Amino acid sequence: MIDILETTAHPTELEQAQSVWSACLNILNENVTSQSFKTWFEPIVPMNLRGGTLTVQVPSQFFYDWIEEHFEGMINSTITRVLGKDASLTYEILKEETPIEAEQEVVLPPATRAEKRTFPPQPESFRLGNAPPASSRQNDSANGNFQTFLNPRYTFDNFIKGESNQLARAAATAVANNPGGTSFNPLVIYGGTGLGKTHLIQAIGNYAQAHNKARRVIYVSSEKFTVEFVEAIQSDRINEFAAFYRSMDILIVDDVQFFSGKEKTQDSFFHTFNELHQLGKQIILSSDRPPKELKGLDDRLLSRFQWGLTADIQPPDLETRIAILRYKSMNDGIELPGEVIEFVAANVTTNIRELEGCLISLLAKASLEGREITIDLAREVLKVVVGDVRSPITIEEIQRNVCEYFSIPEDLLRAKTRKQEIVNARQVAMYLAKELTNSSLKTIGLHFGGRDHSTVIHAYQCVEDQMKIDSKYKANVDQIKRRLELRGKV
Ligand code: ADP
Ligand code: MG
Repeated sequence: MIDILETTAHPTELEQAQSVWSACLNILNENVTSQSFKTWFEPIVPMNLRGGTLTVQVPSQFFYDWIEEHFEGMINSTITRVLGKDASLTYEILKEETPIEAEQEVVLPPATRAEKRTFPPQPESFRLGNAPPASSRQNDSANGNFQTFLNPRYTFDNFIKGESNQLARAAATAVANNPGGTSFNPLVIYGGTGLGKTHLIQAIGNYAQAHNKARRVIYVSSEKFTVEFVEAIQSDRINEFAAFYRSMDILIVDDVQFFSGKEKTQDSFFHTFNELHQLGKQIILSSDRPPKELKGLDDRLLSRFQWGLTADIQPPDLETRIAILRYKSMNDGIELPGEVIEFVAANVTTNIRELEGCLISLLAKASLEGREITIDLAREVLKVVVGDVRSPITIEEIQRNVCEYFSIPEDLLRAKTRKQEIVNARQVAMYLAKELTNSSLKTIGLHFGGRDHSTVIHAYQCVEDQMKIDSKYKANVDQIKRRLELRGKV
């Protein structure tokens, strides 16, 4: 057991927590596999130690549930060993979706089964001088001591660039460097769920604060804005509410589609918007659809949304998905085999949140079952996460992939053109159709603008011959083939 007061002269709560947690880690490290340790214990951040209660922060609810289910006993006995039997452990969950909920805490007494407890919510953010949450604590002095509700995890550095988010990212960077000073005011980012809107708009706030581009930054979801507005009316504090939001240098409002139908809130937001805009302050909004398709929103608000720049985020293409998985696994200190990354990226296509979920499940399964990370393991995980077994590869899919690979329009495969690059792509697609599907030569020919079966045989042989003499050509064909195969395997 460590006697903290004796080991350090006047340790802060943070220093105490760090020293206690590091003693715990030493014990835990001896009791779990090194991969489990890396995956589940290294990411935990000690926060403070108060009256025998150690508070640590975990990255997500999933993370918390997992360690509670699998390591609870071990963690409790470790805490008891280090701090004594009256000690307890509290978890702070750094929640990804809505940082306001990050204050949900869970208390685990060391010896008994944990009982989840949600602490009462903090005072509203517009009551100045309240204690900021862990996620924005470092912003204290910069912004005049109120909660920014920015999640420090969302930065530009860890936002992977791709064609799907190019414009949005570029605009966001410009705004972060010069808030209120570009014509991108408001900046509206829209796109489907899990594609990185929240990440990107918060990255602007984090960057602007870190680089002293703005002092007062606040992130708020439209729902939270609405709730606060209603509460402010009820408690007769509407002036305070309005003044608070109108004092910002950067106002970031997430998911404005939820303003739909809430006329009074929209009215209040309208005035806030106008005032900030007039003062040259930056407004950043996100929405799940383009502003002109937002229903139930006042026209005058909609027209203002279109004053600045509207940029979309599209679902990530394969290359971006691969880059994201590579980055995130490296960040977790785990090097995934390339083929596993490609396999996951080829099969999880809808959004980035799901991609992350698969990666976490994969690491978790490997770590818990003590298994190597292979395609087989990934397949097991994906069956649960992605669901049904995919249908077999189709000729259309092959055509689409080949054209994407060579960057040519798909209809040219079926056209009469004899341009070399088109002929080449067409032959590769025919070859792969023969290799990867059970279609007859005749059927394949029909898919390529009604060509004859002898044309398909000829193409097949050309590709085979070329692969024998040209290793670069062979590598290209193999790569397309592998991607298609990976995609068909789940
Ligand atoms: P949205 O707000 O559009 O629903 P989020 O911003 O919450 O999506 O993103 C979902 C998850 O995917 C987050 O964990 C986020 O960090 C991650 N993410 C999204 N886009 C990227 C990207 N380009 N690079 C890295 N991570 C990303
Ligand atoms: Mg979001």
